[in-house]
Amino acid sequence: MQLQDQSKDVPVDKGSSRSELIELLAVIFASALSTLLMIHLEAFDKLYRYSRMMERYEFDEIAVFLPSFLAIGFVLYSYRRIQKLEYEMIRRREMERQLLKSEKLFKSLSITDDLTQLYNSRYFYKRLKEEINKLIRHKQPLSLLLIDIDDFKKINDRYGHLQGDNFLKKAGSVIQNCLRKTDSAYRYGGEEFTIILPGTGIEAAINVAKRIRKGFVAQDFSSITNETLHMSVSIGACQFKPEEDMEAFVKRTDDALYRAKRNGKNRVHPS
Ligand code: GH3
Ligand code: MG
Ligand code: MG
Repeated sequence: MQLQDQSKDVPVDKGSSRSELIELLAVIFASALSTLLMIHLEAFDKLYRYSRMMERYEFDEIAVFLPSFLAIGFVLYSYRRIQKLEYEMIRRREMERQLLKSEKLFKSLSITDDLTQLYNSRYFYKRLKEEINKLIRHKQPLSLLLIDIDDFKKINDRYGHLQGDNFLKKAGSVIQNCLRKTDSAYRYGGEEFTIILPGTGIEAAINVAKRIRKGFVAQDFSSITNETLHMSVSIGACQFKPEEDMEAFVKRTDDALYRAKRNGKNRVHPS
């Protein structure tokens, strides 16, 4: 599955805030127009003169206060509208933030292996393809490690599949702790893992592989078994050749792993 950052595609309903703005502008326009019209028709003066003539002094007040009331009413109305618009904008921004957050969470879940919390194999192929393309442009070395836990069936047989899962979880953290910042680890399947090492030649890749192998031998898994238990891994290490494609590269690393197994396990075999 191709995952892209879809944050820029988040649909934002601008319809209602636009109609509120139009409403506000219409009120401003109508108020200004009616005030201008009354001034133009000298309505306030006429009202004032009429009140003097008829000695109806309450019209004086109307002539003075009516425009003031109009202005105050208009200011209050505008203020309330602006407040509403502001609230609406904050609410939308929060909604967009939440959407972006859940999108990020979904993206991270879709590339992560549930059990080990390493990246999953689907993401491995995507990243490897990207690294190969980058390598072709920048002419930098690229290496790959393929790791398989030795005799893992025996672990399952002895402690059960559920405990086997706990071993795998721990194995993931052992691998992660042996990596450099630039390396990334993936659960390739079952009890097999891969490491992509960008900008790394075969010698440095073998050093990382040796560190992982030693890390496994040194790790005591007694927190799972309540008895001292050590596991070992076999590792195939391979540097990418510009003339090969991704499938051939992975196959060559797999062959190196196979040779590590055949030569007695608990070892690193380069290709
Ligand atoms: P080898 O040294 O040749 O690698 O021997 P192995 O026993 O490790 O054999 P292999 O790699 O062929 O088999 C791996 C076993 O790992 C088989 C399967 O029962 C077990 N396995 C695969 N996935 C899981 C999993 O998710 N959880 C558990 N508990 N076991 C798994
Ligand atoms: Mg295996
Ligand atoms: Mg195995």
